[in-house]
Amino acid sequence: MSNRRDFIKKTTLGTIGLGTFIVANGMNKAEAPFSSVEVKVKKKPLIISTWNHGLPANAETWKQLKAGKPTLDAIEAGMKIPEADPNVRSVGYGGYPDREGKVTLDACIMDHNSNCGSVSFLEGIMHPISVAKRVLENTPHVMLSGEGALQFALSEGFKVENLLTPEAEKDWKKWLEESKYKPVINIENHDTISMLVIDADGNLSGGCTTSGAAWKMHGRVGDSPIIGAGLFLDNEVGAAAATGLGEAVIRTAGSAMVVELMRQGKSPFEACKEITERIYEKHKNHRDMEYLQVGFIALNNKGEHGAYSLRSGFNYAICDEEKGNRMEDAKFKMTWDK
Ligand code: ASP
Repeated sequence: MSNRRDFIKKTTLGTIGLGTFIVANGMNKAEAPFSSVEVKVKKKPLIISTWNHGLPANAETWKQLKAGKPTLDAIEAGMKIPEADPNVRSVGYGGYPDREGKVTLDACIMDHNSNCGSVSFLEGIMHPISVAKRVLENTPHVMLSGEGALQFALSEGFKVENLLTPEAEKDWKKWLEESKYKPVINIENHDTISMLVIDADGNLSGGCTTSGAAWKMHGRVGDSPIIGAGLFLDNEVGAAAATGLGEAVIRTAGSAMVVELMRQGKSPFEACKEITERIYEKHKNHRDMEYLQVGFIALNNKGEHGAYSLRSGFNYAICDEEKGNRMEDAKFKMTWDK
């Protein structure tokens, strides 16, 4: 198996397809040594991202990959699109603030060698995914938080900007009238953007970026910047990422568990479903259950992908050579009214 993978890598087939390879090597199809290789090769590269805002993010990442950019650069470029979009209420600029009116951001990024960078509770920086990438590249650490993350961002040349848009401020002031904390997930059909990529070499990478749960306590950090919770990958197995109520994903080490289930032989879909069921079992008598939503996306090292959510309404964007960039509804355990 590993010889087969090494072989694929050595021939640097990338996206050209087995047909081209066979012709170039003077074999006919009947003599092709590895019949299943064709399927694997055709599936790369492939990008999956959470929610509708995954579509423009995928499109940019795809463009960058096709231009030959390094995969982490391509992920960063894609995720910067929803970060800069004032109409996305759950990511970067335009994201809902915490209960004190402060927009605080969480993000992380991880490559196929398990290098990771992460920032949490970061204020005033338009592109936390870029700061997370600099943590990976330019520090001996995995995670920087709050004031320290901001100081690091400034030292790297990032500028402080006001991320609270008038629209988000208006909604926050309306929320203050009752000040009831009950995260409303799915209503606008966009939350954290989590992206997973298998590149032309068959290597896995991923990222997450979010402004977190609206009206959270000041200082609250969700699952999205936590490697193993909001994002995890093992290049020998697969990658997984989460969206939804971060507290529930942290309690269960969600994304790490999805990867471990794939290691045990589960498909990406089966793995996402099993950890979602586990989260349900752990929370069915919990106070969070009333508003609990979690969703997972997963991708294995063969380029197969899947998703599952606790409640209805979760979708994800898929981009590949064969079918382009499109949305798919995730299967789910229950609808919101049950
Ligand atoms: N997981 C994010 C958080 O808890 C929010 C979301 O994806 O809806 O911060």
